[in-house]
Amino acid sequence: MTVPTISLNDGTTIPQLGFGVFKVDPDETERIVSDALEVGYRHIDTAAVYGNEVGVGRAIEKSGIPRDELYVTTKLWNSDQGTQSAFDAIDLSLEKLGLEHVNLYLIHWPRPDLDKYVESWLALEEIQRSGKATSIGVSNFHENHLDRLLAETTVVPAVDQVELHPTFAQAPLREYLASKGIHTEAWGPLGQGKYDLFGLPAIADAAAAHGVSPAQVVIRWHLQKGIIVFPKSNSRERMAENFDVFGFELSGEQMGAIDALDAGNRVGADPEAARF
Ligand code: NAD
Repeated sequence: MTVPTISLNDGTTIPQLGFGVFKVDPDETERIVSDALEVGYRHIDTAAVYGNEVGVGRAIEKSGIPRDELYVTTKLWNSDQGTQSAFDAIDLSLEKLGLEHVNLYLIHWPRPDLDKYVESWLALEEIQRSGKATSIGVSNFHENHLDRLLAETTVVPAVDQVELHPTFAQAPLREYLASKGIHTEAWGPLGQGKYDLFGLPAIADAAAAHGVSPAQVVIRWHLQKGIIVFPKSNSRERMAENFDVFGFELSGEQMGAIDALDAGNRVGADPEAARF
């Protein structure tokens, strides 16, 4: 199965479908990521705060897959925002991952109350120049945070990774990001299992029509919108199911019916107000 790649604004490419490891138990991460790599995933999304970079690194090493066939993202945690703290944080992440570079390094949350995201971004620009991160981007940034970055720094983030699923579709933010050449990545693409997304008729009906699962329909909806997506599952069966999304296509009508589910249902924190 060939996963499509998306071209980013810095000339690199990223596999559009990956595997996320938020809340994957550090003790289980090596097994779970090994399963994901065996299933065929080549893009892994982790973060320093997930506490499981060591397990991700062990699975990568054990897999024997050449480094240039893998795409690894990690993130700068909020308490490490700043200059020297960001330099130390990327070094620690690389050590835990057992890698010389990550493909993508993100500022995890803007935390506007700290007023350090511009300084942190300048550190990420330096980290990119050093080769420790091939691409750099942000996560959970709103338009106003990005307006400030774009005004005060030189490198345009390659991506903004934000909460995004059919009932929280973020259309205005996606439009803004596209206008700046910043690619949208979706976190919580399945609504983190917190909503009964799968029982909604627009999703359930499309699944029945294509003989696939509702989760596959939702992932397909993201892919057809050009969004980069990395659903998470601890179960190998579901990993395989979530990866098997290239044998069918949602019609314009089915896409429209799913678009109409957008209800502003945020499952995670509001980035403007988040204080963790
Ligand atoms: P998700 O939307 O991928 O949901 C995961 C949950 O969906 C699983 O725990 C499981 O209960 C369910 N699920 C998965 N596959 C299924 C299937 N085939 N059928 C039925 N149920 C299924 O949520 P997520 O893990 O929060 O998001 C994906 C990734 O995004 C994370 O693992 C992480 O890498 C990233 N993320 C980033 C941020 C951020 O702030 N940048 C926040 C949260 C998550």
